[in-house]
Amino acid sequence: MPAWLELLTVAAFGLCIGSFLNVCAYRLPLGGSIVYPASRCTSCGRTLSWFDNVPVISWVVLRGRCRTCGVAVSWQYPLVELITAGLFVLVILLTPPGVLMASRLLLVSILIALFGIDLEHQILPNSITLSGIAIGIALSVFAPPGLKDSLIGAVLGAGILYGIAYGYFLWRREEGMGMGDVKMLAMIGAFLGWKAVLVTLVLSSFAGAFIGVILLGLHKGGMKFALPFGTFLSIGALIAMFAGEPLVTWYAGFL
Ligand SMILES: [Zn+2]
Repeated sequence: MPAWLELLTVAAFGLCIGSFLNVCAYRLPLGGSIVYPASRCTSCGRTLSWFDNVPVISWVVLRGRCRTCGVAVSWQYPLVELITAGLFVLVILLTPPGVLMASRLLLVSILIALFGIDLEHQILPNSITLSGIAIGIALSVFAPPGLKDSLIGAVLGAGILYGIAYGYFLWRREEGMGMGDVKMLAMIGAFLGWKAVLVTLVLSSFAGAFIGVILLGLHKGGMKFALPFGTFLSIGALIAMFAGEPLVTWYAGFL
């Protein structure tokens, strides 16, 4: 198969997974099944036919509206599909075929789903984070970072954020960080190893502070819960996955 055709196939596959992640992000927090019933309009309830459910294309053809009732369909759906496709292509280009590639595709999917769910509902479901920890550790037996690094990563990820959460609680007598974040960083450590935990934490704190300052400039006050940390952990972990090694090497150069 020519290289361009291979990448096109991966992109199409990514679009379909992105479409599935949209369904997960919408249904998981509501406690519903992710496979039943078939996709339907959230406004009029009409079941979508396959040609109204083609990733990105249907949204463009229908100009972002439901065919039956005309209600606007959020642009976030095609955006999630495009981002998933883009990241899948990136994984394929940067990873040798094998268990590591499968592990990275899975982690990308999980991070996108958690990003969407945390942004929308301010929760990080145990069904994703806890099973993610188990799967990450299991895959590390067959691929980098290796079992030892993975176990240290899971413990370190949970330990750091639990320590911060506990310290914050002692200081302010209120919960500043949820246990969902603790489990999510443990999951990232299980997949990527302990070095990536540190890179993720630094990057997501920078991203959080950067975007927080911008938002504070736009609105005044009340932003504390509008910025769920899980969304920043997703961004940090994605960068750590693709650029973690060079970043660690670059930073070590200053020491
Ligand atoms: Zn409708």
